Amino acid sequence: MEDKNNASMKAQRRRRQRVARMRNTIMMTVGIWILLSMVFCVGLTVQMIRLNHRIDELALNAVTVQQMADQMEEYKGTAKENDMQSYSLKEEGGTEDAPDGTEPESTDVIDPDNQVQEEVPQKVYLTFDDGPSENTAKILDILKEKDVKATFFVTGNEEESAKELYQRIVAEGHTLGMHSYSHKYSVIYSSLESFQDDFNRLRTYLTEITGVEPQIMRFPGGSSNQVSNIDMREFIRYVGAQGVTYYDWNVASGDATSQAYTPGELVENVMKDVVKYDTSIVLMHDASGKGTTVEALGPMIDQLKSMEVELLPITEGTRLIQQIPADSINE
Ligand SMILES: [Zn+2]
Repeated sequence: MEDKNNASMKAQRRRRQRVARMRNTIMMTVGIWILLSMVFCVGLTVQMIRLNHRIDELALNAVTVQQMADQMEEYKGTAKENDMQSYSLKEEGGTEDAPDGTEPESTDVIDPDNQVQEEVPQKVYLTFDDGPSENTAKILDILKEKDVKATFFVTGNEEESAKELYQRIVAEGHTLGMHSYSHKYSVIYSSLESFQDDFNRLRTYLTEITGVEPQIMRFPGGSSNQVSNIDMREFIRYVGAQGVTYYDWNVASGDATSQAYTPGELVENVMKDVVKYDTSIVLMHDASGKGTTVEALGPMIDQLKSMEVELLPITEGTRLIQQIPADSINE
């Protein structure tokens, strides 16, 4: 009986021990699980923090890029505004900074045919944009004194003094070309209709004042200007349909750049390019505040004459100097 009791107690103890072992095993397993989960969670948290940092960095970069883009946009806007401002200043008789020559990407018209030929005199066409201005009479006086004919690409000005200047340009044998009535890029290049209005307003006005219908023009900023939001070919097509020829330039005096050239430097700028071409069309400006152009003109003509080039006004048949050639445009 005692034996039996002993045996049963032993069996009970063993069972308890087994249960205890199982409980320990389970608790250990659970413990390890919890520990592993915690390690895993900590790992995940660290990873998450790192990713968050990365996202912040990327976001910051994106903001910087966006800011840069905004700044560039703003800069472009300001450049255009400055343009407009300078021309409204002009209307008020203030000083202005003509944008031509600074706007187009390139002033070099690459034309393999336009090479200097031996024993054929080079042709040089002096052109003045943006007049009439307070300098027009001075320019005309110098041209008269030097017996040189040139080309004026003019804007619209209804003052009596301006009317006399348009007439004087024609009367003294120079070519009167159109530039634009308003010279406001934001207006004339805003739509084809707007361009047409400006074009016809100037053409009619000049014909009325001088009795001569202008046959040539120069686009403000040149035919390849980067200001127009509309494809320039739209305007080129229109101008062509009106029987008007446009001329750009292949020699820039630099009188419209922000760099303040001395008269001597303006002459140098012209001379170093004129030697390259059979036909040179020289860009200059007839605008208030461009006194250096007036000062440079006499010496420039003297130097050109010493090279024995022909100084001519643009007429029908003058070699086309066009940044976007008119004949490259399909009707
Ligand atoms: Zn201009």
